[in-house]
Amino acid sequence: MKHRIVLLGPPASGKGTQAELITARYGIPVTSSGAVLREEKRRGTPLGLEADKLTSQGKLVPDEIVIELMSHWLERHGDAWIFDGFPRSVPQAEALERLLAQQGTPLDVVLALQADLATLQQRVTSRLVCSQCGLIVSAGLHVASVDAPCPRCGGALTRRNDDTLETLSERMREYAEKTEPLVEYYEQRGLLRTIDSAGVPDAVFQQVAAILES
Ligand code: AMP
Repeated sequence: MKHRIVLLGPPASGKGTQAELITARYGIPVTSSGAVLREEKRRGTPLGLEADKLTSQGKLVPDEIVIELMSHWLERHGDAWIFDGFPRSVPQAEALERLLAQQGTPLDVVLALQADLATLQQRVTSRLVCSQCGLIVSAGLHVASVDAPCPRCGGALTRRNDDTLETLSERMREYAEKTEPLVEYYEQRGLLRTIDSAGVPDAVFQQVAAILES
C-alpha cells in the first residue's frame, strides 16, 4: 500500500476531490497548499492577504512561502500523507525531497491527473466550496444550483475568487511553465503514475485506488 502521495495536475483536474476520497477510504491525512493559503486569507494574516493578491490573479505564490507552510504541516504529521497541489515547481519538489530524506520517509507515488481543457473550464465554472467545512462540490453534479446549502454541513457554498475563465487561463500558463516540468522530474525518479481524470469522481478513484493498493 502506498501512503506517501503527491497529487499533481492542472487547476480543477480533481486533486482535491480525489484527496478527499483517499482520506475517506484509507484514513490518510491530506494537506492542500491552496486550502492552507485560503485559510490564512480567511483569518486575515499578512501572509494570507499577500498571497491572495497573487492567487486571485492566477499566479503562483513564491516558493519560500509555500515550502515553509508545508514543512510545518509535515513536522506535525507522521509518515503517511497526501499533498494536494504541492509541489508545484521544481524548487518546491527539491525542497520536499530534502525534507523527506532528512526524515527517512521517501515519497511512494505521484499521481498525475489529466483532463482536457473543456473539462477543466466546465469544472472551474461549476465548482463551489463550503465556507464552513471546506467540502468541494460541483453545481449540477452534487447540488442542484449555486444557491444550495452544503450537502454535508448545511453551510453556505461559495465560489473561489480565482475560479473564473480569465483566471483559469493565467493558472494554465503558470502550470505549463512551472508545474508541468515536474512530470519529467518524477518520471525520472520512477514515481509518476498518470490518471485519466476527465470522468466522474468515482470512476477516477477506481484508477487511484488500484495504483495505491498495488
Ligand atoms: P489550488 O487550491 O490548489 O487550486 O490553489 C489555488 C492557488 O493557490 C493557486 O492558483 C496558487 O495561486 C496558490 N498555490 C497553491 N498551491 C501552491 C503552490 N504549491 N505553490 C505556489 N502557489 C500555490
